[in-house]
Amino acid sequence: MSKNLTKRSEDYSKWYNELVVKADLAENSAVRGCMVIKPYGYAIWEKMQAELDKKFKETGHQNAYFPLFVPKSLFEAEEKNAEGFAKECAVVTHYRLKTDPDDASKLIVDPNAKLEEELIVRPTSEAIIWNTYKGWIQSYRDLPILVNQWANVVRWEMRTRLFLRTAEFLWQEGHTAHETRQEAIAETEQMNNVYADFVENFMAIPVVKGRKTESERFAGAEDTYCIEALMQDGKALQAGTSHFLGQNFAKAFDVKFTSKEGKQDYVWATSWGVSTRLMGALIMTHSDDNGLVLPPNLAPIQVVIVPIYKGEEQLNQISEVADQLVEDLRAKGISVKFDNRDTHRPGAKFAQYELQGVPLRIAIGPKDLEKGTVELARRDTLSKQFIQKDDVVNTIETLLVEIQESLHLKATQYRDSHITEVNSFEEFKEVLENKGGFISAHWDGAAETEQKIKELTKATIRCIPFDAKEENGVCVYSGNPSKVRVLFAKAY
Ligand code: AMP
Repeated sequence: MSKNLTKRSEDYSKWYNELVVKADLAENSAVRGCMVIKPYGYAIWEKMQAELDKKFKETGHQNAYFPLFVPKSLFEAEEKNAEGFAKECAVVTHYRLKTDPDDASKLIVDPNAKLEEELIVRPTSEAIIWNTYKGWIQSYRDLPILVNQWANVVRWEMRTRLFLRTAEFLWQEGHTAHETRQEAIAETEQMNNVYADFVENFMAIPVVKGRKTESERFAGAEDTYCIEALMQDGKALQAGTSHFLGQNFAKAFDVKFTSKEGKQDYVWATSWGVSTRLMGALIMTHSDDNGLVLPPNLAPIQVVIVPIYKGEEQLNQISEVADQLVEDLRAKGISVKFDNRDTHRPGAKFAQYELQGVPLRIAIGPKDLEKGTVELARRDTLSKQFIQKDDVVNTIETLLVEIQESLHLKATQYRDSHITEVNSFEEFKEVLENKGGFISAHWDGAAETEQKIKELTKATIRCIPFDAKEENGVCVYSGNPSKVRVLFAKAY
């Protein structure tokens, strides 16, 4: 595996693309905009899934599965949602191919196999799910419904990037149904908090929690909450969204329930999702010019042991020590790999694990056997130390926690030093151009102002932070009064 990544300071975007491929996370496929997630990348995604799934279940949700296809008539039912996604829809029109009469080696679409009703490949599943919920809900006793689906969706994106924006992506989508507005809003908040907690504590990525402006809101939602993260190049990334859908989908699909008081009312809804985009966030928050840096909580291999030996006898002696360490570490729930391949030299193994972000590396050579030591190297700081064999397990347990915390701290310091308050449009442009990051500025609340700023600077309002303090000011662009600062940034 060749190393030599482009440096981040030279070309951040190139660095990212190279890293994804060289660390064996994913690659482009034969299908435009669609990627192949390779086993190492998928192992990280599975770790994310497992933790999120646990959190969903702890908050009372169950998994279910709905069809990939949405009949067009259902898709159209909630107009705003349909309109919002229309431009990105893949549509199935036929169900059969046949041999080309002019060239027997080719297949053509059989014109006699046209579907009566076109099918939309789901870009999101509210329509098919709310059409299903209609049959599940009659009375308040049927509520709430707290369901999540792990699935793939398709959005025909024009400009795609591995993990960050693909035409097909993996995600989870929660779809819940409630008796009251307050209950649905509480669920929207709860799930945004679940995402924030996961991304902060598991992925070691600091996020800002807030709400989207009307123009950035999910199509068909009354309110969209989100978590926004900041990448090392000063660009923001939407890491997760949680939507309060009001009664829009219940009205579109006529989903009513009889309340305790015997009254009929439409059901209240939420939906929430995170996607394989989180892989992009992970890479762009922690990694360096040597490759991937993984927080221990998400590392498929937390510790790798590399033997340094000449001849079989030495390898056997080292293996004895290594096998014992593997056993002791596994007993503590630590994932460890002893790489005793004789097809690769230690230097090549070191380079591979560095590129792939394995948090800790143990090297054991003949000198260590004599002294009863091992060499322990940290991926995040690239520092090395010799430790006594008997101290390895304790040291590693402590270090894994320390690395997780230290990555979070480093990312938080970067993020916090890249939130800049500005009070004029000149300052806004200057900071955006020279420093990047989040710009905290007053905005008059008008969609036209937001649009104008976007046209002039490419920066969008990432969110109105929940913890933004009330403050009388004037909009950086229009000069109109404003009561709260919002966060602008260029975004992925
Ligand atoms: P949405 O349904 O639009 O609120 O999106 C749900 C989640 O999927 C958000 O966290 C988005 O950032 C993410 N997402 C949206 N579009 C894409 C895409 N093309 N590729 C990967 N992730 C996406």
